[in-house]
Amino acid sequence: MTTTPILPSVNNLHKKLFGPISVPERLLLGPGPSNSHPSVLEALSLNPVGHLDPFYISLMGEVQELLRYVWQTDNRLTLPMSGTGSAAMEATIANVVEPGDTVLVAIKGYFGHRLADMAGRYRANVQTIEKQWGEAFSLDEIERALVKYKPAVFGIVHAETSTGVCQPMEGIGELCRKHNALLLLDTVTSLGGVPLYLDKWKVDLAYSCSQKGLSCPPGLGPFTINSRGEEKLSQRSGKVPNWYLDVSLLNKYWGSDRVYHHTAPVNMNFGIRESLRLIAEEGLENSWKRHLDNANLLWSGLQSLGLKMHVNPDLRLATLTTVCIPSGVDGKAFSLHLLNNFGVEIGGGLGDLAGMVWRIGLMGYNSKRENVERILSLFESELPKFR
Ligand code: PLP
Repeated sequence: MTTTPILPSVNNLHKKLFGPISVPERLLLGPGPSNSHPSVLEALSLNPVGHLDPFYISLMGEVQELLRYVWQTDNRLTLPMSGTGSAAMEATIANVVEPGDTVLVAIKGYFGHRLADMAGRYRANVQTIEKQWGEAFSLDEIERALVKYKPAVFGIVHAETSTGVCQPMEGIGELCRKHNALLLLDTVTSLGGVPLYLDKWKVDLAYSCSQKGLSCPPGLGPFTINSRGEEKLSQRSGKVPNWYLDVSLLNKYWGSDRVYHHTAPVNMNFGIRESLRLIAEEGLENSWKRHLDNANLLWSGLQSLGLKMHVNPDLRLATLTTVCIPSGVDGKAFSLHLLNNFGVEIGGGLGDLAGMVWRIGLMGYNSKRENVERILSLFESELPKFR
C-alpha cells in the first residue's frame, strides 16, 4: 500500500486567476510584426506532431526548399533557426567568425550597429564604415573600406528597418570576392517583399525573420550559408562558441542524419511552411510587385497630404516607409492616438531618427490597397488635431 506523501503547503502568493486570453484587434502597420495571414494562423493552431515524425521530416524539407525559392539561392544549408531574426543574425556571426577575424560592418542605421555589436561579442576585430541614417553606400565607398581593412567578413543590411533605405546590391558581391571577404547580408525586412537574389548577388551568408514579409508571427529566423561560407566554417580552429546556433550540429538534424538537436518548434514550422507556400502560389515577382504598388500608393498619398518622406525615391524601401514628423507635432502622441482609438499601429523613429519620423510598414499579408487607404484616411482626418 502506498501512503500519500505529506507535502509542504503550496505558496499561493503568485496564483492569480486570470481569465482566458483576449487579444485586442490590431492592424499592424509598423516596422513589424505584421499581421499574420489567416491560413498561417490556422496552420499554427494544428496539433503538434513529434519532431522526428516522418511527416514532420518531410515538412522540414519543404520549408527548406521554399526558403531557397524566396531567397533565390541553391544553398544546401538553408534552414529556419528556432528564434527570432536576431537568433539567425547571431548564427551567421557565430558560425564563421573566429576570434581575431576582421569583420567590417557598413552601418547606416540601427541594425548595422547590432551586427557590429554581435561580431565584437564573438571577439572579432570589428571595423565599421558609417553613413547618415537615410543614405546607402556606394560601391566606391565599400571597395575603399575592403582595401583598407581586408576583412574576412563584410556585413551589410539590405533593408534598414530603422531608416527605410534599400541598399542597392549590384556589384557588392563581386567586390567581396575580389577582396577575399565573405558577404553577410541582413534580409530581415526584404525577404518576400522586395527583389532579392542571393546567388546572383554572390551573398555568402544571410538571415531573415518570419514576422514581416512572410506573414507569420515572430519566432523563426531563416538562415542560409553557401559553400564559401561552409569552407570558412570547416576551417575553424575551435568549436562554434554557441551550441544552440552551431549549424554543423543543426545540419545533423536538418540534413540526412536526423539526429536530435533541440525539440523543434513544430507549430512555428507549420506556420512558416504555410506562409512560404502562399508566396510560391502568388509568385515571388507578383509579391514584389504588390509591395511596390502599395508603397507607391502610400508615398503619393502621403505627399498629397503635404507630408515628406525621409528617404529619396531611388533608395526607398517598399516594405517600410519613414515619414518625417511635421514640426510642432508630437509624433508619439499621434501614433498612440491611432493605436488607442483605431487599433492601428505605426512605428516611431529609432536611434538617430527618434522623434523625427514615423515608420509605416506594408509587409506580407498587410501590403494591400485597403490598408494603404485606411492609414491615409487616418492621417488625413486625425493629424490636423495634432498640429
Ligand atoms: N535586422 C533588421 C533589419 C530588423 O529590422 C530586425 C528586427 O526588426 C532584426 C534584424 C532583428 O530581428 P528580430 O527582432 O526578429 O530579432
